[in-house]
Amino acid sequence: MEIRLYNTLGRRRQIFKPIKADRIGIYSCGPTVYGNQHIGHMYAYVQWDVLVRFLRFLDFKVRWVMNITDVGHLTGDNLGDADTGEDKMEKGARREGLTVWQIAEKYIQQFLESADFLNITRPDILCRASRHIKEQIDLAKRIEDNGFTYRTKTGLVFDTAKFPDYARFARLDLKKQRAGERVEVDPEKKQPWDFLLWVTNQPEHIMKWDSPWGVGFPGWHIECTAMSVKYLGKQFDIHTGGQEHIGVHHTNEIAQGHGAYGAQTANFWLHNGWLKLEGAKISKSLGNVILVSDLIARGFDPLSLRYLILTSHYRQGLDFTWEGLKAASRALKRLRETVGSLKKTSRERSHLTADKLKKIEAWRQKFVGSLADDLAMPQALASIWEMLKSNLTSYDKLDMLLDFDEVLGLDLAAVEEAEIPEKIRILAEKRQLLRKEKKWTEADKVRKEIERSGFEVRDTGSSYWLRSK
Ligand SMILES: [Zn+2]
Repeated sequence: MEIRLYNTLGRRRQIFKPIKADRIGIYSCGPTVYGNQHIGHMYAYVQWDVLVRFLRFLDFKVRWVMNITDVGHLTGDNLGDADTGEDKMEKGARREGLTVWQIAEKYIQQFLESADFLNITRPDILCRASRHIKEQIDLAKRIEDNGFTYRTKTGLVFDTAKFPDYARFARLDLKKQRAGERVEVDPEKKQPWDFLLWVTNQPEHIMKWDSPWGVGFPGWHIECTAMSVKYLGKQFDIHTGGQEHIGVHHTNEIAQGHGAYGAQTANFWLHNGWLKLEGAKISKSLGNVILVSDLIARGFDPLSLRYLILTSHYRQGLDFTWEGLKAASRALKRLRETVGSLKKTSRERSHLTADKLKKIEAWRQKFVGSLADDLAMPQALASIWEMLKSNLTSYDKLDMLLDFDEVLGLDLAAVEEAEIPEKIRILAEKRQLLRKEKKWTEADKVRKEIERSGFEVRDTGSSYWLRSK
């Protein structure tokens, strides 16, 4: 089976071959934890989860690494507040009366909770930038020793003029690039697109560490190169991120790889499109932020969102509407009902004739073949519905569907034929009341009772969610 993935490096689908036979290293740019991760952010993580699950489905051993940006940055590095130049971590801390470290903890938890609701596989390594300062300093030092930097009052700057291919990855026209559109943090930069590897002389900044260039903090881009190389080696298979990262963040990562090791680090660069809300990008300033917990509060099973995401191709993105979510929710319900009825009608596997095996194999090929073609999940999903309508036996349909669900991640194996019983719902309500009254011990007793009955209750902000274990 040949796998093709759209590689931003060549702007086309290319045949994907792992560097080391059956092992694949994947690095995904992860969340910045100064605020809630909304469904727009989660879109990307679901798509990359599908990539990881699919490669594992094909029996590759995948090591999935994701970073958590928990160090504040300045506007000039494209991560501070665009209007004020303020560090968003510190802004968040002030807003909520917490320390920057508490802010990071709080939003890491919110991210993980959202990821769990969406059945996103936990990355093998989830690495925090603040815990890899030494690696970032070592990398910046290496780049400096190789002659790719200069010093300013603001810190250590990557000199893009030393890397003639700087504009190539993003196909930037540097002549047309202007610095005037953003707040410039370092007026001494030689080229506007030069970027800071280490930032110094920021007395107001709270998160600070010692370095050969003075007390300060790393530039944003350096963390991804430092941590991907630490966990996956100088040359690894796949690097993923949002399309908005092509022009700056990934361009700078490529420059850093070149500056440190004479070559950039990833064989394949994959980029996802965006989830938009009625055509607009979701953002706090537009006031259209929707969290996974909001969907649950509105009575949706969060896996409906996962299903909806699977109906879009990762590079195309998705236009989110409540109608679309309702339709996805109905489709998911139908899929679960199908599993339920297949379970009832499925008998022992009858004798497998050559003809039958051929049919099963053809359906499998259809599903796997779509995904091997740059993860064409909409086509893969359509082939599942077709397969379910075919004349295969219940046993074979169920067998295949549950097998494919390892990629879909819709928890179909856990589907009970019965809905959640009234008794369990009442217990969950009772527990919710006890929690509101801060009667934690009693609430915990009720939770255990729910769990003994084979169900699981999960809390989300002010609400909760039930499912069978
Ligand atoms: Zn990154």
